[in-house]
Amino acid sequence: MEVKCRRLEGKVAVVTASTQGIGLAIAERLGLEGAAVVISSRKQKNVDEAVEGLKAKGITAVGAVCHVSNAQQRKDLIDTAVKNFGHIDILVSNAAANPTVDSILEMKEAVLDKLWDINVKASILLLQEAAPHLRKGSSVIIISSITGYNPEQGLTMYGVTKTALFGLTKALAGEMGPNTRVNCIAPGFVPTRFASFLTTNETIRKELTDKTALKRLGSVEDMAAAAAFLASDDASFITAETIVVAGGMQSRL
Ligand code: NAP
Repeated sequence: MEVKCRRLEGKVAVVTASTQGIGLAIAERLGLEGAAVVISSRKQKNVDEAVEGLKAKGITAVGAVCHVSNAQQRKDLIDTAVKNFGHIDILVSNAAANPTVDSILEMKEAVLDKLWDINVKASILLLQEAAPHLRKGSSVIIISSITGYNPEQGLTMYGVTKTALFGLTKALAGEMGPNTRVNCIAPGFVPTRFASFLTTNETIRKELTDKTALKRLGSVEDMAAAAAFLASDDASFITAETIVVAGGMQSRL
């Protein structure tokens, strides 16, 4: 990723689920634009490797293990940011789960709870933890999905939790202004591990590609560029919005 602009110099960013895929690309882009980054995921080994990779690119990076559903680990993540850098300017809530392809009517209650806990509730609880440390001019970015608009088969209840994030963004922007902006990104389909059950199937991959106006899947760098913009002062009058980064896929509720 080649980035020349340093519009995040002096800022501190916390990114959840950021040891690979979209989260890691966001951490890298924020770091290359000058932010100090605090990355995290469930596994220490993944955290250590990602921190080393970012440092090798000249980025100031620290890491913490944080399964977003674990209260102590959410606290540890925010404590890591505050102990190392004193405050937080950018918080990217990126973790999500899609544990089953069951239809909603067949979904077990435990799975419904897990989807709600990881995809929606954990963002709220993490923000409660982070809020006292967010500086004036800070930016919260919630990662939703194009499936929040179009719940594809196999992603239906997951899609509903991603729809909830559009509302959460609006509600939090009202509560957290004027000092903090809250925005959302709705990525289209990106060939990461998370989406591999779709994107490695040639037929499905072609269907998804054909649904875009640009006739391609997204890249993690596409998502990182949108996040860097929303985190920066270039977006200083933008709050309560969702940016759809999906190559022109249908995006209306
Ligand atoms: P990914 O490449 O599979 O990466 C997932 C990352 O999350 C890994 O670093 C993983 O590391 C970490 N992780 C998983 N569960 C976690 C948890 N409970 N708590 C903390 N960290 C966790 O996934 P991705 O495609 O980048 O997805 C990132 C976000 O983009 C998700 O919110 C997803 O809904 C959204 N999204 C993705 C697509 C797509 O097509 N890829 C489209 C729309 C939206 P560990 O294993 O070490 O925990």
